[in-house]
Amino acid sequence: APLAVPEAAPRAPGRPRVAFWWNSSCGGCEEAVVDLGPDLAPLLGECEVVLWPFALDYKRRDVEALPDGSIDVAFLNGAVRLEDQLEWSRLLRRKARRLVAVGACAQLGGVVGLGNLTGPGEIEAAARTPLGAAAPEPVAPRPGEPRLPPVLARVVPLTEVVEVDAILPGCPPSPELVLAAVRRLLDPAPLRPAEVLAPDL
Ligand code: SF4
Repeated sequence: APLAVPEAAPRAPGRPRVAFWWNSSCGGCEEAVVDLGPDLAPLLGECEVVLWPFALDYKRRDVEALPDGSIDVAFLNGAVRLEDQLEWSRLLRRKARRLVAVGACAQLGGVVGLGNLTGPGEIEAAARTPLGAAAPEPVAPRPGEPRLPPVLARVVPLTEVVEVDAILPGCPPSPELVLAAVRRLLDPAPLRPAEVLAPDL
């Protein structure tokens, strides 16, 4: 069952704390945030960004040390492919008062979900097969070569592993939608369960 929303902790004073995280993703949803262009800097100035691997150095232990519920809004894009991503998703679920599934991969599996057409072993074998081979002929890892991190048996959408407070649809969501969603999320007015942040839908 998806990890449930934690007990609501009182909101800390000061600027809203915001986190961005990506699981298995093409990067397009991150790009949608950057595509806010001139709207991005003022928006970030209104917030305290506590996690954004795309732009800021980070350490997992720093996030683990945050009190539960102390991040006001966490935006997670991408589907969940790796065990590590499952752990990050659950960690951010605990730390965030509002957690948002950003993009089709987080909502439904999306493009990353196509990985379920074959098993993880077949994908790795295909990746290790030299171009031009008639059939999969995987080559062995070279000494010292980094190994793939542990993968889950199948790709799962974020919405399957944690309860989400809101969904920002699209592949990727348009910058206009991102901007409207951020405004909605920073508004303390209650959300409907798994509210879809798309005013025109
Ligand atoms: Fe990329 Fe689309 Fe998935 Fe976003 S929803 S990570 S743009 S494939």
